[in-house]
Amino acid sequence: MKFVDKVALVTGGSRGIGLATAKMLSENGATVIITGKDSKRLEKVSSEISNCIGIAGDIRNTNDVKNIVKKTIEKFGRLDILVNNAGIFPQIKQLHEIEEEEWNEVLDVNLTGQFRFTKEAIPHLQKTSGSIINISSDAGLKAYQGFNADAYSASKAALIILTKCWALEYAKDKIRVNCICPGVVDTDMTKPFLKTQNDKEFMDNEHPLGRIGQPEEVAKAIIYFASDDASWTTGAVLAVDGGQSTK
Ligand code: NAD
Repeated sequence: MKFVDKVALVTGGSRGIGLATAKMLSENGATVIITGKDSKRLEKVSSEISNCIGIAGDIRNTNDVKNIVKKTIEKFGRLDILVNNAGIFPQIKQLHEIEEEEWNEVLDVNLTGQFRFTKEAIPHLQKTSGSIINISSDAGLKAYQGFNADAYSASKAALIILTKCWALEYAKDKIRVNCICPGVVDTDMTKPFLKTQNDKEFMDNEHPLGRIGQPEEVAKAIIYFASDDASWTTGAVLAVDGGQSTK
């Protein structure tokens, strides 16, 4: 039990990588708060996990974010772990076809959203010498032929450098900040790209280990960074991607 008496907040914890992480944190003794936009789904999912509650809110709305952190502290009195996981993937388009609105939407959720949660969480993490785990992407590490999701790539690359900035800034408070870059993982986000057998084979072959990942395989790396096993690790960027970023 790595997280007895610890309180963890997982943004976008209602499904996919966030949900797998919330379950694993709970199995390891943590009290877990999951967030997302869909309150009904959060209620259902959180009721199936021990010591877990859902608090709905839109990561684009500063008041919602403030409210989620405030409720967490009111109810549990502390915060030890923040997993900045919520994210969206835009429609595949070349840069010259993207409307500014679409660009802003992706940055608002994937980048400014992480800023909002981190800003609210820091004063509480300072009290617990807590840990932040940012979920970036292989798309933040390198460009991929035909990927054409520039706003997404920009948001994920920004999270990598912010991980290092925040690690340096808050090392004095013993807050550790680390980052994970997943390859393609089998979640609702990637369903549109895995419709046919050909799509699946193509995606599997993109990864040197010969297959896409499962949410639990990313969650295990998040658990490592969140735990004392990583007590001397901060500012690190870990690809959990079946080798995709090595090519
Ligand atoms: P998902 O689509 O299954 O889940 C995304 C979560 O984010 C949901 O819980 C959703 O409610 C939440 N969310 C989205 N917009 C929100 C908003 N405006 N306000 C509040 N919550 C919002 O995605 P996933 O595949 O589990 O991805 C989780 C993270 O991992 C994302 O940051 C994603 O970019 C990253 N990632 C995923 C993959 C992949 O292949 N699935 C690869 C690399 C990185």
